This record gives sequence, structure tokens and C-alpha cells, in this order.
Amino acid sequence: MGHGWPVSIQTMWKDPLPNFYGPDDERLHKIAKKIDALKALGCQIIRFAVPNIEAAEALGMLASVSSMPIVADIHFDWRIALRCMDFPIAKVRINPGNIGAEWKVREVAAKALDKGIPIRIGINGGSLPKDLEGEPDRALAALKAATREIEVLESMHFSNIVVSLKLNNPETVIRANELFAAQYPYPLHLGVTEAGPLVAGVVRNTAALVPLLKKKIGATIRISLSDTMEQEVIAGKEILACVDGGQQGIRIVSCPRCGRASFDTHAFVARWSERLYSLNARISVAVMGCVVNGPGEARHADLGITGAGNSVLIFKHGEIVRRTDVQNADSAFQEELNSLLGATTAS
Ligand code: SF4
Repeated sequence: MGHGWPVSIQTMWKDPLPNFYGPDDERLHKIAKKIDALKALGCQIIRFAVPNIEAAEALGMLASVSSMPIVADIHFDWRIALRCMDFPIAKVRINPGNIGAEWKVREVAAKALDKGIPIRIGINGGSLPKDLEGEPDRALAALKAATREIEVLESMHFSNIVVSLKLNNPETVIRANELFAAQYPYPLHLGVTEAGPLVAGVVRNTAALVPLLKKKIGATIRISLSDTMEQEVIAGKEILACVDGGQQGIRIVSCPRCGRASFDTHAFVARWSERLYSLNARISVAVMGCVVNGPGEARHADLGITGAGNSVLIFKHGEIVRRTDVQNADSAFQEELNSLLGATTAS
């Protein structure tokens, strides 16, 4: 990550890991399957909270079957980080605000150095080191906390470092990361901490991350939401698309619906959103409620569907290719999508 690589999208598993009884445990394979689905959606790195040694053992089993790089998130007890590094994990995240004495960080770094595992110094505005809690400038406090840990790691010639400076206020996130990027070469993982529910969280993350990413600050992102991992990944893709003005795979255009709608665009988008975002294709899809703006938008999309009285019309590259009943909208849309993807793949 960093050093010119494309910005990667992360999410974090939202539930405790079960104590798997062995490699055949169904729950293990269920989680691995969910990770596969998140990967198809566009997630590239997944982090797990590891609050105790049992969770470290569970993470170890998962790391051997996961299709995605796994990060161990450690608070308080450095021995859990040491145990996690016995398994094929991709990174350890430690929080200097609560890991305690410097010698504990040194033990973690020594093992990480030995195993070639990167360490993320994860600074969080909610858990700054005690002596920095009263610092009125939160951006500076976060930078100071990161600097301390970097100095410890650098004194051991450890440079496989990622840093995150997560705060709750977008302006402060921007300033903290700008200050850091002006001073250090290490890759930054970006995010707004405790960003809130879906809408508030996406808005706050967009406000903070887009200006940073436009300045080429940031190697990975996580859009923390009080919502699903799937929404976090979709939000990450949309934010990256805002930054490069391009498209992260699928682009969905859909109308807000109004009293003219003869087709429930909200329900259709809810049913199709994850399926569409999981496609490995750069196409645009328009979902419109009626003939006022529907045909116009649908014509500009690779594939479009719009309500038209008791029917729906399906457009492909500007041409109407189907008219069908609303009840058959999903199956007709699926068929046209399949044929479009076949054509896209063939070309
Ligand atoms: S496309 Fe039709 S239903 Fe959708 S918002 Fe516009 S006028 Fe309303």
C-alpha cells in the first residue's frame, strides 16, 4: 500500500469471532464466504477486533482460509498481538493510547520485524494517550501520539509502518493528516472515527477524505458507519470515484421517486444494489420512476429501466430493448444485464 499503489478499501468485521472448534466448523466457512462476498463488492482488506487470546486463535484459523488480507486490531494487551503474529495475518493495528509501556510496543515490533508483518499505529481521538487528552488542538495531539510511536519503531529500524489519525471532526481529520504527510513518508490509512449512521457517516467521511485523497494523501480508507460492512465498502467505492472523477466499477443513477412514479425505484435499487456493485464491470445503470426523466436518463446509461404507465421500459445504450409488466421487471432486467455483460466481456 502507498508508494503509488491505488488506494485500497477496508472494512471492519462487526461481530465477535466465535470460538471455532476446528477447521471444519461451519461458522468459520460462513465467515469466509461473507469475506468472499465483500471482496467481490470491492473490499480489499478486512480488520477484526481481537479482544482476547481465544479471539486470536479464531483469527488464526480464519486467516488460513480467508481470501482477503486480514488485520488484527489489538487494544490493551500486547500479548494478543504477539499470538496473532503466529498466523498468516497481513497487519497488526495497535492503539498507542492503550497498549501501555514502551517495552510492550517494542516486543510487538520485534516479532513483527521477525515475521515481516506491518504495524498500523492507529491513533484515535477517543483514546489518546492520557497526557495528550487535554491538548486543545486535537490534530496536533494525534500527530504527537503518532510521533512517539514512530520514534520507538524507528529506533528498532522498523519502517514497515502504516499510520491512521482518526478523529470525529472532518476538518481536524484533514489537518492531522496534512500535518503528518508533510512530515513523514509512511502510508496513511484514512477515516473519520465514530462517523455516525449511514447518511451522516458518508457525508463526514466524504468531507474529510475527498480533499485529502485529491492531494494524494492516503493509501487506504475505511468509511466507518453505524451500518453494514457492505454499505461501508460501497461508500468507499463512491468516495474514490469522486476523487478521480472516474468510476469504481458500476455507476448507478436512480431517481428519488415522486408522485409521478409508476415504478418503485427505491425497492428496485435496494434489491439490486449489492448485486450490481459486486459486478466486475465498468457500466452505468439508470433506474427511473416514470417517463418524465426516465427515458432521458436511461438513454445515457449502458442499461436503464424506467416506469412507463403499467409497464417498464428497458434501455440498452440508448435504445428501448424491452417493454414488460412491472412484475416481470427483475427477470427482464437480469436477462438484459446478462446479455450486456456477455457483450462487454466479449468486446
Ligand atoms: S423520474 Fe419521474 S418519478 Fe422519478 S423523480 Fe423524476 S418525475 Fe419523479
